[in-house]
Amino acid sequence: MPELRFDNRVVVVTGAGGGLGKAYSLFFAARGAKVVVNDLGAGLKGEGNSASAADLVVEEIKQAGGTAVADYNNVLDGHKIVETAMSAFGRIDVIICNAGILRDRSFKAMTDKDWDDVFNVHLHGSYAITKAAWPILRKQKFGRLIMTSSAAGIYGNFGQANYSAAKQALVGFSNSLAYEGHKYNITSNTIAPLAASRMTATVMPQEILEALKPEFIAPLVGFLTHETTKQSGGLYEIGAGKITAHRWQATEGVVFKADQSFTPAAVKQRFQEIDDFDNSPVYYPSSMKDNDWLGKLEIAKGLA
Ligand code: NAD
Repeated sequence: MPELRFDNRVVVVTGAGGGLGKAYSLFFAARGAKVVVNDLGAGLKGEGNSASAADLVVEEIKQAGGTAVADYNNVLDGHKIVETAMSAFGRIDVIICNAGILRDRSFKAMTDKDWDDVFNVHLHGSYAITKAAWPILRKQKFGRLIMTSSAAGIYGNFGQANYSAAKQALVGFSNSLAYEGHKYNITSNTIAPLAASRMTATVMPQEILEALKPEFIAPLVGFLTHETTKQSGGLYEIGAGKITAHRWQATEGVVFKADQSFTPAAVKQRFQEIDDFDNSPVYYPSSMKDNDWLGKLEIAKGLA
C-alpha cells in the first residue's frame, strides 16, 4: 500500500503544542508537509501563555529532518496564523482546527465567562482561521479542513453544556463549508476523537489512557486531508484504533391533519409512534432536501 504523502503541502495545526495537535504536526512533517505549529501555550482552562509549547514541537520536527514554523497567536486571531503560513511558506493547503480548552462545570454553576471562553476558542477560533484562509483556498481550488468535535458534542455530557454546544456547532459549521467548498475542491470533515492527553487525564482511568495514544487519531486526519480524498461533510468518531462514521436517522414519523385538530393532545396520542425507532420504518436524511417538507404538506392537505 503506497504511503499517502503531503510533499509541498502546507499544513496548519492549531493548538499543536501538545496532545493531539502535536501528534498531527509530527505526523504531517514526517510525510513531507511544511507545518505551522500554532499554540499560545495555554493551560487546560485557557489560562496564561508560553511560546515554549510550539517551539518544542518545531524543534522536534526539525531534528527529525522536517520543516516547521512556530506560531504563538491565539486562534481568535486566525488571520494572523494564516499570515504566518503565507509569509513562511507562501501557501496554505490543510487546516486542522484543533485548539481547545475546558471549563467543565454543572450548568447551574457555569458562568457567562465559562460559556463565552469555551465558545470563543472552539467555535470562533475555528471560524476565524477558516474565514481568513477561505479566499486563498478558493483561489487555488484546493483545501482540506478538519473540525474537531467531541463525543460530548454529539451526545451531550454532564458538566459540559458549554463545551458540548460549541462542539456540536462545529459539526454544522463543517457541513455547511462542505457544501460551499465543493465547487472549489475544498473539503471539510469533522472528527470526534478520544485520546489520552491532559484533557482526558483527569477523567479516565490510567489503563484506558494507555490504550488511547494521540498518534492513533492521525491516520484518519491524514486520510481525510490528503489531496486524493474527496470525502466531505463527514463526522467520524475515532479512538484506540476504531473509526466509526455517523449520520442522522429519522423515524417515518406521523403526518397530522393541518387543521384545528392538530393539538398537543393529538401529538400526545401518537407520540410513541413518532418516537418509535425500533418498529417504524426509519430513513437517513443526509441533507435538508431529504426532509421533503413539500411532499409532507401535500399529504397533510390531502388528509385535511
Ligand atoms: P490539549 O489540552 O492537550 O491540547 C489543546 C491545545 O490547544 C493546548 O496545547 C493549548 O495550549 C492550545 N490552545 C488552547 N487555547 C488556545 C488558543 N486560544 N489559541 C491557540 N492554542 C490554544 O488537548 P487535546 O486532548 O490534545 O485536545 C485537542 C482537541 O481535541 C480539542 O479541541 C479537544 O476539545 C478535542 N477533543 C479531545 C479529546 C480527547 O480525548 N483528548 C476528546 C474530544 C475532543
